[in-house]
Formats: sequence, C-alpha cells, structure tokens
Amino acid sequence: MHDFVHRYPHFLEVLYDFTVRVVSLFKPWLKPGGTTERFFVWFEKLTKGPMFHCHTCGQCVLHSTGMMCPMECPKNLRDGPCGGVRANGHCEVKPEMKCVWVRAWENAQQMPTYGYELLMIMPPHNWALTNTSSWINMMTGADQENPKGWLPNHDPLALKDRFYISQAGQS
Ligand code: SF4
Repeated sequence: MHDFVHRYPHFLEVLYDFTVRVVSLFKPWLKPGGTTERFFVWFEKLTKGPMFHCHTCGQCVLHSTGMMCPMECPKNLRDGPCGGVRANGHCEVKPEMKCVWVRAWENAQQMPTYGYELLMIMPPHNWALTNTSSWINMMTGADQENPKGWLPNHDPLALKDRFYISQAGQS
C-alpha cells in the first residue's frame, strides 16, 4: 500500500488537508493522555502505518517532507539527505532501500501546496513525544515546542518562491 499511495503525492497532500479539517472539528475534546489519546494512537497506527510506515513519533511532518515519513530514514534525520546517498539514489545504511529523501524530493515536485516546505530546516525530533498522538499534539501545539536552543532560520515565503522558481527553470 505504501508504494501505491506514493505514486500520488498530490492526492496525499489533499488528504492531509482533509484530515486536518476533520481532526480540527474535535479539537475541544482532544487532550493528551487517557482513552482519547489511546484511541488516536491506535487509529493513527491503523491508517498511517500501512500508508506511510508510521513509527508513531508523535510529531508528524509528512506534508513538509514530500509525504515521506522521516522516521523511515535509518538515521531518523529530519533534514536529509545525509552525505551518504549512493550514486543510484539508495541509502548507505540499507543499500536495498531508496533514500527516503530522494523519494521526498521526487514527491515534492508533484505537490503544488506543500512541496516547497521540503526546503525548510526542521527542528530535531522531540523524542519525548514518541508513542503519543501526532494529531492531538498538532491540535494542542505540543508538536511545535522546539528543543531549547533551536532557532528557526527560514523564511517560509522566501523558500516558497525559491522552490517554485527552480521548478519552473527545470521545465
Ligand atoms: S512523521 Fe511521525 S507521525 Fe508522521 S508518519 Fe512519520 S512517524 Fe508517523
């Protein structure tokens, strides 16, 4: 299922938007901990597991990474690729696997809404959120709390221009 859905990156970003809208409807009831969170963690595993090989990191950034789960990268990088991508585009740790970040770049080219976000520098993953619900964390803002010392160094609008101008230059 994973390989099949990744043939349609634009559909996945539309699905992402739809999911955010639906989850937002339940925002008043979405609190961390308890039965609600256990249900959401279960449901995320059920849905995002087969589609994205979700590792339940609790801090979902799929739409910013070409709809590829960064936790699939053996180094768990949030800002890939590393310097070890092989000439054939495969991973240096798992040579049989295409680099997650090569696939993310390919997908981003087909994502008119969120493709440019691949150029953003992501904060490190907050491991304290592992095995919690990323949807609840998105609603409470817990997924936006960056580790101390992290200062974002990007301007989303400038990146957006740069991304789509370079795309136009390639076509
Ligand atoms: S980024 Fe985190 S929540 Fe999103 S699919 Fe990957 S492991 Fe799951």
